[in-house]
Amino acid sequence: MNLKKILFAKGVFHPGGNKISVLGKQVQYIYPFETVKKNGLLMISANWLFSKFRTVLHPFTISSSKAEDLYCKICGSKSPLKEVAYKRNFYECSKCKFIFTNDFEIAASQKGMGMEGSWSGQGGGGYREYYLATFLQKELGLKEILLFGTGNTDTFRKLKNEGYDVRGCDITPELIKIRKEEFGDDSFFSPVTFPKNSKFDIIVCVEVFEHFFDLKSSFDLLVSVLSDKGVICGTTNFYPGGSIVDSNKPGYMSHKGHVAYWSSISLGNLAKKFGLELLSFEMVRPGSVLPDEKFGQLWPNKRVFFIYKNIYGNFFHNLYKTTPILPIDKP
Ligand SMILES: [Zn+2]
Repeated sequence: MNLKKILFAKGVFHPGGNKISVLGKQVQYIYPFETVKKNGLLMISANWLFSKFRTVLHPFTISSSKAEDLYCKICGSKSPLKEVAYKRNFYECSKCKFIFTNDFEIAASQKGMGMEGSWSGQGGGGYREYYLATFLQKELGLKEILLFGTGNTDTFRKLKNEGYDVRGCDITPELIKIRKEEFGDDSFFSPVTFPKNSKFDIIVCVEVFEHFFDLKSSFDLLVSVLSDKGVICGTTNFYPGGSIVDSNKPGYMSHKGHVAYWSSISLGNLAKKFGLELLSFEMVRPGSVLPDEKFGQLWPNKRVFFIYKNIYGNFFHNLYKTTPILPIDKP
């Protein structure tokens, strides 16, 4: 089967049945998740997808179009429809306040958004990743770095050139291939082809968490590759209250690939489920486009988060006391 063709194929869920078609190929599935019936969602594991269609990709879902109550992907509580915004249904957990959509698209799950420039060339952004990786390395003496969902920013190459122990991960097959060819087979991989027994001290997820649809698989994976002294960090927009629609054009949650709208409460609840703690910070210039005179005003709800083990509680709380706004001034 042609991998490129399938990347943009839409699956069809046959209601009431147990078959799915992708590109006209119909195969039987088994329900891999308990939530399927409750949510009216069909969730398919990447392993299953690979076994049937020979494609190694993130799990995808075909959603019901009905605006019925869903169940929270963090705590399982009932999550009523909160708002219809950007022609999408947004649900909010009544308990942990996690906000999510149910219209995840297969195409959006297979190509990251850090796609300025060609896959073989340099992408935009990357400074936040660089700042976080080098900051944690310096402050906590941590070494092995994973750039998770790094796209084609230049950060991977920059850190390599500066002698850091860094590996990369992304969902885009073309990018993985290009990086492997240049830096070796062990340097860059997809979320479902992690080398066995990988462990990382610093896992950087800049503008990644808003893409997580299958939360359990994504966080299980991150925590499984986090070393005993490891820290997960990154950036995403935190829901500031009020309407989902924001003043930017296009709005943050209008992007089809953005399916999770976090807050310090909901992300903290998720961290707690894994025995981890969360602290979030602002940054001096949260905008995402340079040069842009609006740069300092864009995305006032952009946050830098650290998800860490109890041993770092003092470090991060002290940091928050002295530097609640981190000196990150580039995207
Ligand atoms: Zn919840």
